[in-house]
Amino acid sequence: MAKILIIEDEEPIRELIKLNLEMSGYETLAAADGQEGLAFIDSKTIDLIILDIMLPKLDGYELMTTIIRKNIPTIMLTAKDSLMDKVKGLEMGADDYITKPFEAIELLARVKSVLRRTGKERASIVFDDIEIFIDQRKILKGGIEVELTYKEFSLLQILAENKGVAMSREKLLEIVWGYDFQGNTRTVDMHIQRIRNKLGTDRIKTIYKVGYRLEA
Ligand code: CA
Repeated sequence: MAKILIIEDEEPIRELIKLNLEMSGYETLAAADGQEGLAFIDSKTIDLIILDIMLPKLDGYELMTTIIRKNIPTIMLTAKDSLMDKVKGLEMGADDYITKPFEAIELLARVKSVLRRTGKERASIVFDDIEIFIDQRKILKGGIEVELTYKEFSLLQILAENKGVAMSREKLLEIVWGYDFQGNTRTVDMHIQRIRNKLGTDRIKTIYKVGYRLEA
């Protein structure tokens, strides 16, 4: 999941942004002034920055020079009615801006759009509040990581990649455990039950006499 740095000196706004991003499954870093922000930019791998303009120590414009050099996508936070800030921010290379005050839904839409546009969005499969990150072998439910075993993850991955398709127990056994596995199809049932419990989902349907299907 993308890692987002929030640089904003107003604590309530900073915390609100952080909370909303984390609830959507993003990792966050938060800085209360320009210098703290710069320290993160210099030391961490960051996929997107949400940058306030008026900041103590170093302001947003001063930070932009470094951000551009590092090629990190940036959304600027601007005060209402400050057309000059918007124009200057975009001219300096910001990817987008949000005017304060803003709704969480607008913030999330813009974050998503900039990440997609800049190719920083990582591939994932989503259903309900569950997000599966294939590359990282990581699952989030409501933004919180759920621990699955290696086999459980592989099983869920197959079902998720074949959303809506009934997969036979034999097929699942063959793909996840391999041809020479000595166990029987009960193994699949036991693993499915554990996945259902861990994820608290009823999306994995039992198909009578066949196997399982992840409901699309
Ligand atoms: Ca500020």
